[in-house]
Amino acid sequence: MANILVTGGAGYIGSHTCLELLHAGHDVVVFDNLSNSSEESLRRVEKLANKSSVFVQGDIRHQAELDQVFQAHQIDAVIHFAGLKAVGESQKNPLIYFDNNIAGSVQLIKSMEKAGVFNLVFSSSATVYGESNPSPYQEDMPLSLPNNNYGYTKLIIEQILEKMALADSRWSIALLRYFNPVGAHKSGQIGEDPQGIPNNLMPYVTQVAVGRRESLSIFGNDYPTKDGTCERDFIHVVDLAQAHVLAVANRLNNKGCRAWNIGTGSPISVLKIKETFERVNGIQIPTEFTKRRVGDLSAFYADASRAKAELGWQPQYTLEDMLADSWNWQKQNPNGFN
Ligand code: NAD
Ligand code: UDP
Repeated sequence: MANILVTGGAGYIGSHTCLELLHAGHDVVVFDNLSNSSEESLRRVEKLANKSSVFVQGDIRHQAELDQVFQAHQIDAVIHFAGLKAVGESQKNPLIYFDNNIAGSVQLIKSMEKAGVFNLVFSSSATVYGESNPSPYQEDMPLSLPNNNYGYTKLIIEQILEKMALADSRWSIALLRYFNPVGAHKSGQIGEDPQGIPNNLMPYVTQVAVGRRESLSIFGNDYPTKDGTCERDFIHVVDLAQAHVLAVANRLNNKGCRAWNIGTGSPISVLKIKETFERVNGIQIPTEFTKRRVGDLSAFYADASRAKAELGWQPQYTLEDMLADSWNWQKQNPNGFN
């Protein structure tokens, strides 16, 4: 069993991953500046796991804070979630994204190198495939520039990590390219808790369901898809968390830099999400169709065969589970962790 440092571990995907790591018998040190999360998520993780973890409040851009963590704890591997993720905000304030995501990751790499820790799992995104690749996306497709600054930071960090592994054979790096994470832990104790108006589909739907928003706007119904709305590859956050547990195990036994898609491989339309949510949960979601959102691709989904073959990872949860679990979290926590 290993001692894992989880940057951004108090956030949505991080908290679910901490729980799965604890369940798997690992020790966990969370490092998070709480800029988009609350320590309450970690208290709940500890309760669910019936095991404690260490929490350090700090910022990945601050060398002294990171170095201190590596000095205080014997870390075997790092899972790196910390970063900013709002596409619209990244267009308005690119520098904040370059600083938090790119400079923050470079600082983390420096502190890891100094501490002699070379196993890293990085939160990447399907956005690195850019606009011209056909779905299903395969890991060895040539990547292309994403159409927004958030996606650009993911591409740059991937490339930096690849170059680190090429230059120094001690590195072992996993690039996990997430598709669209949704859902929540079955208990309804932890889940996605966006600040302000949600940018993403799923939290918007659950906030309409709980009465915090009036209606869902579906951005465009004239796409070249079956029902005219965009199609995405939605993945249950607990399946995604499991992929991290397997990726850490893989990295502790291998060298180099390797990318894996983490998605189901099935495209699901935005309209189908709304209709299935209504059917599974027995709640109507008032909806209107509005114009397309700038930058949205019509459809994308994963070829997830590499993660199955090499990590032994396969999604366990259905679309119905994703939508029931998202709602279970939201109805038990109408105002998130507040
Ligand atoms: P989140 O905002 O819930 O979690 C990110 C965490 O990082 C938060 O707890 C935040 O407080 C922390 N953080 C941010 N900047 C930090 C800094 N400078 N120093 C220390 N901590 C910092 O987001 P999430 O949905 O859990 O996403 C986790 C990771 O996965 C992110 O890197 C995100 O870009 C990536 N990702 C997310 C999605 C998605 O749809 N949710 C898709 C693809 C990739
Ligand atoms: N979407 C929507 N209404 C919303 C939020 C999102 O119709 O309020 C659509 C969006 O146009 C996209 C899909 O839902 O086609 C998924 O969007 P999200 O922002 O959740 O993830 P993305 O695929 O952009 O990373």
